[in-house]
Amino acid sequence: MTRDPPETETSAGGRSPCPHCGARDVGGEDGCNEFFQEVVGREFSRPEIFQVHRLTVDAYSLQHPDQYMKSAKSAVAHLTGMCWAMEGVDDPSVSNSLSRFLEGTPKFTRPEPVPPPGKRGELTIVDVHSAPDSMEHIKRVREWARMAWDSWADHHAQARLWVEEAKVKGRSRKGHR
Ligand SMILES: [Zn+2]
Repeated sequence: MTRDPPETETSAGGRSPCPHCGARDVGGEDGCNEFFQEVVGREFSRPEIFQVHRLTVDAYSLQHPDQYMKSAKSAVAHLTGMCWAMEGVDDPSVSNSLSRFLEGTPKFTRPEPVPPPGKRGELTIVDVHSAPDSMEHIKRVREWARMAWDSWADHHAQARLWVEEAKVKGRSRKGHR
């Protein structure tokens, strides 16, 4: 009598892929999240790579919208944060403006449709996790984030409008501390 090999996470065929970002051999969404937590831990422990931490969170969220962009507000937050980072808005106050914008505008509609699994960028958290040093870590986060952002191309125009709106609101609040 023959039996199919059990589909355990340690079977010879490797572990299951992440159903959200498509990372291979990670052990499903929980395993993928462990990679993410380790990368975040690394960013908190090395000052020289902390500069890309926000980008890491936004990129991971854009590849895992069912987990991290469930509410309209979180979706808008990650899209605008990524837009701000990717399109080089050269204004240090924009980050604060975005926070105020998100707090002050209660009604958002969640951007739909989200890019389907498998079409959220070729690089994943696993590629960042395997970076051998800090320089490579930063480089890979930037490439990965660019791909994740590109996969949301249908929503770029809307994200830019939100960023502009946040900037205007930020300016109108200048002088207040
Ligand atoms: Zn994943």
